Amino acid sequence: MKFKFENYEVWFITGAQLLYGGDAVVKVDAHSNEMVKGLNDSGNLPVNVVYKGTANSSAEISEIMRAANGDPKCIGMITWMHTFSPAKMWIHGLMDFKKPLLHLHTQYNETIPWNEIDMDFMNLNQSAHGDREFGFITSRLRKPRKVVVGYWKDKDTHAKIATWMRVSAGWADAQDMRIIRFGDNMNNVAVTDGDKVEAEIRLGYHVDNAPIAKLVPFVNEVTEAEIDALVAEYLRIYDFADNCKPGAELHSYVRDAAAQEIGLRRFLEKKGAKAFTTSFDELEGMNQLMGFATQRLMAEGYGFGAEGDWKTAALVRTMWVMGQGIPGGSSFLEDYTLNFDGAKSSILQAHMLEINPDIAAKKPRVEVHYLGIGDSGTCARLVFQGHEGEGIAATIVDMGNRFRMIVNKVNVIKPKELPKLPVACALWIPEPNFEVGAGAWILAGGTHHSSFSYALTVEHMEDFAEIADIELLIIDKDTTFRNFKQDMRNNEVYYFINKALR
Ligand code: MN
Repeated sequence: MKFKFENYEVWFITGAQLLYGGDAVVKVDAHSNEMVKGLNDSGNLPVNVVYKGTANSSAEISEIMRAANGDPKCIGMITWMHTFSPAKMWIHGLMDFKKPLLHLHTQYNETIPWNEIDMDFMNLNQSAHGDREFGFITSRLRKPRKVVVGYWKDKDTHAKIATWMRVSAGWADAQDMRIIRFGDNMNNVAVTDGDKVEAEIRLGYHVDNAPIAKLVPFVNEVTEAEIDALVAEYLRIYDFADNCKPGAELHSYVRDAAAQEIGLRRFLEKKGAKAFTTSFDELEGMNQLMGFATQRLMAEGYGFGAEGDWKTAALVRTMWVMGQGIPGGSSFLEDYTLNFDGAKSSILQAHMLEINPDIAAKKPRVEVHYLGIGDSGTCARLVFQGHEGEGIAATIVDMGNRFRMIVNKVNVIKPKELPKLPVACALWIPEPNFEVGAGAWILAGGTHHSSFSYALTVEHMEDFAEIADIELLIIDKDTTFRNFKQDMRNNEVYYFINKALR
């Protein structure tokens, strides 16, 4: 599944005005060029910044905003007011603008030159009040945006811009996201369902059903030679249990899983899909649940949600995109079982099969076992444990009048061996602790499924929720039940009124 930050760019425009004369604007332009070059040369930004000039009038601003909307390479806009830029001229352009916005509050000059400073200097280094004027109009227009404050050469400033760029790329990627569902939601499950029309309006996700029978021919048409080649790859990169090595009694299940992987990939490519869901109740024509194939495709960047969970499938894809190039990996996970152990109380994250091997602490092992649930049958799978480290778990639920994103900072710890549970897993302690972390997640109505990432931080998800303009509840070290409940009550009022105003 191809994805490259290099396919995208972020535009940069500098607010000014002609009040100070043409010479000032020429200087503003030169400074802006130098700053954009500096940002790109820093090596700290995943997406190239393209300077689009100074904006000195309403007509200029409208033109550039319309061009940005229409250019598929452009995933967002950085604005910066070098001088005072009267904000009425931003109204039409900002109202038209449909992409992520970052307002950079910085200044060309770093420290005040106390002995030399004069009125010319003051006229040229006016971000301090220019950016406030711009801030007013973006607030007045209720425009979602990220405000980054910091010197343009500082690494911390770059880090905040980089986070927003990753999220903007994930957002762009989501705007044409097609999610294939093999079978419906698992019978009667509520939290994984939701309003697919609203999801397409709000988040860009398009969800399509595909009967499993449409996939079966793709799997059956895979040749023995193709299976040989893929199994050779498995042998190169994974350990194998003795009974599923080539020639052993259960090896045929591994070959069948390889055929599923190739067939499923071809099917998704043909459909132009970036994510998919499966159902263990709908497997007619398949001899095993596509667990191994799912693990492999997730590692390639396909989003996945089990039992028809299309919202999680989409979020897994988006988080994979946002985290590209950062070590750590991401995966679909599910809260399985609790381990009460005082301050170390934790939750075992697992699934029947479908966990991304990118999060593995050690080389994953190919195993074949019978799986009694639904029509799953005897299934190949990669067995491993997630490595230790900090990460985030995120989900989106449909609250009826809005989508709510819930993000929990978690600490993955080392589980013990699980000799009788041959699945991939991770063990984590949610922040601020097990009691408040799990309790707040439940109070918020969070799913048992989540999209997990070691690579991303809460800030990525804050930027995502801002761009999507959806509710965000964060559970981290600062969370208390009292404040969390009050936040949810406040949000109920906010979204009720917000809806009425739209
Ligand atoms: Mn599940």
